[in-house]
Amino acid sequence: MDADIVCVGFGPATAGFLTALSKQLVNPDGTPAVESAVMPGMPPQVLCYERADDIGFGVSGVVTRGRGLRAAFPDLDPRQIPMAAPVTEEKVVYLLDPIGASRRSWTLRSADACIRAFGGLLPFQNEAVELPWSPSFLHKTGGLVLSMGQFMQWVGAQIQSTGAVQIWPGTPVAQALIEDHQVLGVRLLDQGVDKQGKPGEGFMPGMDIHAALTVVGDGPVGPIGQQLDAQFGLPEGHQVRDWAVGMKFVVDLPANSSLKPGTVLHTFGFPEPEIFGFFYVHPDRVASLGIFVPSWFDTPMRTAYRYLQHWMLHPYLWRHLQGGKLRSWGAKTLGESGRRGEPHLIGDGYARIGEGSGSTNVLTGSGVDEAWTTGTQLAESVLELLKAKKPFTRQHLEETYLKRRRASWVEAEGRIAEKSRDGFQRGVVRGMLGMALAGLTNGRLSLNGEPVPPYQRIPTIEQYYRGRIPEGEIQRLRKECAIKGVSLHGALMQRCGWPAIPYDGQLLVSHQDALLLGGKVQAPAGYADHVVFLYPELCERCGTKICIELCSGQAIAPGQGGVPAFDREKCVHCGACYWNCTQPTPGNPERMNIAFRAGTGGLHSAEN
Ligand SMILES: Cc1cc2nc3c(=O)[nH]c(=O)nc-3n(C[C@H](O)[C@H](O)[C@H](O)COP(=O)(O)OP(=O)(O)OC[C@H]3O[C@@H](n4cnc5c(N)ncnc54)[C@H](O)[C@@H]3O)c2cc1C
Ligand code: SF4
Ligand code: SF4
Repeated sequence: MDADIVCVGFGPATAGFLTALSKQLVNPDGTPAVESAVMPGMPPQVLCYERADDIGFGVSGVVTRGRGLRAAFPDLDPRQIPMAAPVTEEKVVYLLDPIGASRRSWTLRSADACIRAFGGLLPFQNEAVELPWSPSFLHKTGGLVLSMGQFMQWVGAQIQSTGAVQIWPGTPVAQALIEDHQVLGVRLLDQGVDKQGKPGEGFMPGMDIHAALTVVGDGPVGPIGQQLDAQFGLPEGHQVRDWAVGMKFVVDLPANSSLKPGTVLHTFGFPEPEIFGFFYVHPDRVASLGIFVPSWFDTPMRTAYRYLQHWMLHPYLWRHLQGGKLRSWGAKTLGESGRRGEPHLIGDGYARIGEGSGSTNVLTGSGVDEAWTTGTQLAESVLELLKAKKPFTRQHLEETYLKRRRASWVEAEGRIAEKSRDGFQRGVVRGMLGMALAGLTNGRLSLNGEPVPPYQRIPTIEQYYRGRIPEGEIQRLRKECAIKGVSLHGALMQRCGWPAIPYDGQLLVSHQDALLLGGKVQAPAGYADHVVFLYPELCERCGTKICIELCSGQAIAPGQGGVPAFDREKCVHCGACYWNCTQPTPGNPERMNIAFRAGTGGLHSAEN
């Protein structure tokens, strides 16, 4: 099939692109403002393929300054968007460890002891300190609290109502079509195949869509972005090594909740010092809350689900949550390399936008506004080229999109943020100081630390627990868990003082129950597995089996002969297994032993 423009993924970046583009393809009298090359006399044919089952099934509770969004919708009234609220109050809160199980450094322990000793002089209550001051670069004053799922549905409806573009959910793109360094379009995923991709009954090979421009907005772990990086490499000195997995719950707050819509809380310090938390309040007593587990969290126990529950049980948060009910949940990877992870943004026949193009600002913790704005910049450039009847060559995209992006606030702020998190490579306290330094000096100063691939950071389970759990006991627990077919982290965390989670069937539910909640994780039949263990022999020798421990959906479980088993029906498509794997592939130390390919299904909730 032929189109003029084909887009991969419908996230905020592509939404920004299509919002700006769709408004200007057709004149008010219905005639084409610019003409299609594949359907003469018609406006350009623009197609967008999204792998999730609907256009609002992304995951991320969001607070955003919304500069790009407000520029696109100058008359925006947040009440038009379900679950949206203007930001009313922002707090940054340091959480102490009320249990004594977290792995605090000597510095943090001393700080905690001082806070407890001189608590009367500080705003210290409920085992937490609300910082009396926070730097302005963290503020989202004048911004919005959004449910990403609801916002994407709202904006998708606006785009589709123009009739100028088509958005196809439930349609994963398998690969870009590349010939002689030129991207010629995309190929959709094969259907009617078995888990290994072998054709079966009802086989339908993925259709080829040829287009003059392919817009790649498939997010931080998107397969098309990965393919382009493998094909064209990264610019000199760039690397994609910093990541985080964000896991969130959407909660009905208890009836007596005093939290105002638009309240924004950011936490640090607990359950582990490296884990940051967020708590955003929507209208009608609903909140989005969760944690980020970063790649520089040097432990093989990277279970976001268990840590999220301990975080919620912290007295500072639990007083707001007790009596609440879980509505929905999800997890998603964040690309945290920012500007340093920027790939080649353009080439003959393609342009990259959004988080996969390195737009996320790691200093301000902001990705949506930046992603949206890069999409808008590309749309303006595409319109300029269409009107001038110039082809989408590298040179023309450089003179338009690249020029706009380099001159914009996304670039200027991305540069300030570029080295702001390097301090975290050598500890949390250093990391926080480095962020403050970079933020307060506009990026002129920062604390250094060379990002290394996550697998180089993770000790083995035996190394990590040395001095706390004897090796023999680890072996015994490992065997017991393997026999039961469960991950090891629960047993090890409990052994180190983390209490059992007091399940209440409402808000604190088992990981399995969360997966079953409302049938919100689904996997249509007839597609190949999208998570693949590339070299099974590496898995056999792997001591951490971190893919099992961290899996956000319990979709990776102990398997035969030491090779994990993948169950697509439980996968929430967070992509965390892709970058967390502890084994590099032979011949490519930047590539881990798990392939994360195009796939359907995943979360079935627009509340996220
Ligand atoms: C828990 C969490 C909390 C966050 N909080 C905030 C916040 O408070 N403020 C903020 O500004 N940012 C926040 N972020 C970051 C923000 O969500 C991202 O920066 C933003 O979503 C990036 O937009 P994007 O369009 O570039 O990519 P994405 O949102 O990742 O969208 C990419 C889309 O492409 C689709 N796709 C992928 N592969 C394919 C394929 N092969 N075929 C078809 N479609 C495909 C995906 O399904 C997805 O819908 C948060 C992220 C998480 C995970
Ligand atoms: S996928 Fe990676 S982490 Fe998982 S068992 Fe294999 S080598 Fe280990
Ligand atoms: S298997 Fe699925 S749910 Fe589990 S970590 Fe990988 S992408 Fe996330």
